[in-house]
Amino acid sequence: MYNPNSLKAEEFIDDAEILETLDYAQKNKDNAELIDSIIEKAEKRKGLSHREAAVLLDCTLADRNERIFELARQIKKDFYGNRIVMFAPLYLSNYCVNSCVYCPYHCQNKHIARKKLTQEEIRQEVIALQDMGHKRLALETGEDPVNNPIEYVLESIKTIYDIKHKNGAIRRVNVNIAATTVENYCKLKDAGIGTYILFQETYHKESYEKLHPAGPKHNYAYHTEAMDRAMEGGIDDVGLGVLFGLELYRYEFAGLLMHAEHLEAVHGVGPHTISVPRVKKADDIDPTAFDNGIDDDTFAKIIACIRIAVPYTGMIISTRESEACREKALSLGISQISGGSRTSVGGYAGYSPEERPHDTEQFDVSDQRSLDEVVNWLMKLGYIPSFCTACYREGRTGDRFMSLCKNGQIQNCCHPNALMTLKEYLMDYASPDTRDVGVKLIESEIGNVPNEKVRGIVVDNLAKIEQGSRDFRF
Ligand code: SAM
Repeated sequence: MYNPNSLKAEEFIDDAEILETLDYAQKNKDNAELIDSIIEKAEKRKGLSHREAAVLLDCTLADRNERIFELARQIKKDFYGNRIVMFAPLYLSNYCVNSCVYCPYHCQNKHIARKKLTQEEIRQEVIALQDMGHKRLALETGEDPVNNPIEYVLESIKTIYDIKHKNGAIRRVNVNIAATTVENYCKLKDAGIGTYILFQETYHKESYEKLHPAGPKHNYAYHTEAMDRAMEGGIDDVGLGVLFGLELYRYEFAGLLMHAEHLEAVHGVGPHTISVPRVKKADDIDPTAFDNGIDDDTFAKIIACIRIAVPYTGMIISTRESEACREKALSLGISQISGGSRTSVGGYAGYSPEERPHDTEQFDVSDQRSLDEVVNWLMKLGYIPSFCTACYREGRTGDRFMSLCKNGQIQNCCHPNALMTLKEYLMDYASPDTRDVGVKLIESEIGNVPNEKVRGIVVDNLAKIEQGSRDFRF
């Protein structure tokens, strides 16, 4: 029985409710009157229910679809301005005891090289990432209680935060590790993590169990209820996602929004981010073996409908996607992207920007540009690449972050922080061309800080950054 307030996976992600939702959406896919009323509700920028959003996702009326895309673009601008937050993944270990059929780290894969970074190797990786200009990381590991126990992850987080190399610093470590216990989530919270990210992969229980035939990840309820345990453990920024391509996208879309509604209902705060990965080619993985791959147009529609349904939730796109696909996605709702990423264990240190080690890689990266190229590209598209990590360091997490979004103060906070962290990047890491483009962009963007006093402080701080000071934030 569907109940968003329940703590049981099968009640807050109720299969019957999803199937009814999909049926309702199909029956109303060209119901102009209903679609108009949903768009009007969405225009109030307070979000939509999973049922309403499912109707928009299925909508077949060309003119209404144009309105949906336009509204997504507008909400993106209103809530996130032209800032795009930058991050990079850091793979610590690909030892794994699971059997995920889409992931080359599955334990039956005997020919992929297995590697776990030592603390010294992590230092080298982090220095390489700092030298690119990164300030925010997403830690990735396979699930292996012997090789990658929680103590290893905690020690690695401490190592990362402690590294001070030139002007570099990793100021926010997000963590994407397997579902774990409340006790371990408390430890991650105490270690100072930013967001806890865990992709559901698929919300469809039967498919989930087939796609994870063995290992701890096989347990659908344990995996699906992980965010509740994370929040119970004190982590209030959690990141959802599904791996598109495994199951019917319409099913996943409804499940994802029901999960968001559940977190809001139970914990009073929805997901901090939603990621939209698609299955990619990898070592022994052929993405065409999965029947539910989605084309770029469907992918764009999903992004637009998520943007409209949960306007306060950040959206992440990784280098799994090509430059062209990312460009389109940015305008429709994406607020965070990775750049210069390596998905192998130890893929950063000691390699030139052109060299890519493949032996321990998790999946092929489509956007292979360096961070500098991505930053340059973003600015030429009119975006401000932001290396800001202030909210979490100022305690603005969970509902405090959401209230900042809701009262519109974000423009007096995130916008200046974006400009100041971009300035740091330009001073310390950018190529001459990127620096030129960035300096002009900052000049033209200062006027867009609404509060006069704040604007004055920003101008002052930008000058101080030029003279060598670092790490200003609101
Ligand atoms: N091991 C952790 C877990 O079990 O949740 C998460 C870390 S894993 C390195 C990060 C994510 O990569 C997975 O949750 C999955 O969605 C994604 N992934 C795995 N194989 C992939 C593939 N072939 N293409 C694209 N993404 C993939």
